[in-house]
Amino acid sequence: MKAARRGAGGPADVKLDIVTIFPSMVKGPIAEGIVGRAIERGLLDVRVHDLRDFTTDRHRVVDDVPFGGGPGMVLKAEPLFAAVEHIRAARGTPSVVILTSPDGERLTDAVTRRLSGLEHIVVLCGRYEGVDERVRASLATETLSIGDYVLSGGELAALVIVDAVARFVPGVVGDEQSVARDTFARGLLDYPQYTRPAEFRGMSVPAVLLSGHHAEIEKWRRREALRRTLERRPELLNGVVLDAADKELLKDLTRERPERSGSE
Ligand code: SAH
Repeated sequence: MKAARRGAGGPADVKLDIVTIFPSMVKGPIAEGIVGRAIERGLLDVRVHDLRDFTTDRHRVVDDVPFGGGPGMVLKAEPLFAAVEHIRAARGTPSVVILTSPDGERLTDAVTRRLSGLEHIVVLCGRYEGVDERVRASLATETLSIGDYVLSGGELAALVIVDAVARFVPGVVGDEQSVARDTFARGLLDYPQYTRPAEFRGMSVPAVLLSGHHAEIEKWRRREALRRTLERRPELLNGVVLDAADKELLKDLTRERPERSGSE
């Protein structure tokens, strides 16, 4: 569905608040590229909050030692609660409060689509050994991980979330067709792309792409998207609706594939 834009001059389509101890780590990247342009055009309203502004002590301490002992420090609950309360007072109750964490729900295409339909998203960036569990229990409404590896902080995860979500906000990516064709959008990986020159160091662009024959080009692209998915991420094919033509293409592709198991 093509959601009605609240339009130029009106309130932004999506409000985002990011809470971090390293605001400049977040502010630089969001000022660039597609996200930067969406902010300039008022489609996204992103605010970055310094967690230390929500401390009450002279030294602006945001962390403390873990109860029960063990290495490292833990982000305290109080400043995070205070930050979200400030955001609520200034901008209204957020639709979601996301805690970034490697043990969270995995960020996927479906999750970023869901988030892009919300009005107001708060992202909390953890640091050190993590965040006091009471934040997860009664401040965050969900916990998201950007993959099975551990980062030293939630800032890069927050940037990934903002970038991926922004792409689905209507008007953010100039050509909505391009989002609809991206990898995962149709359940398949994207087809290969080429640009000029047509011949480069002995490598030429597939002739069909130069033919101007749109139906043939579409067919080639669908076939290559199916091929890539079959070769690299076959499990994705279980989640795709395939028409008769697709099934025919897949049958050909499977036949073309060199035997990989046990034959050598
Ligand atoms: N001790 C924790 C890791 C803390 S890493 C554990 O083993 O689970 C410090 C912070 O980085 C986390 O609080 C979280 O905000 C962020 N972070 C690290 N890896 C992440 C990931 N894969 N996805 C999202 N956030 C992550």
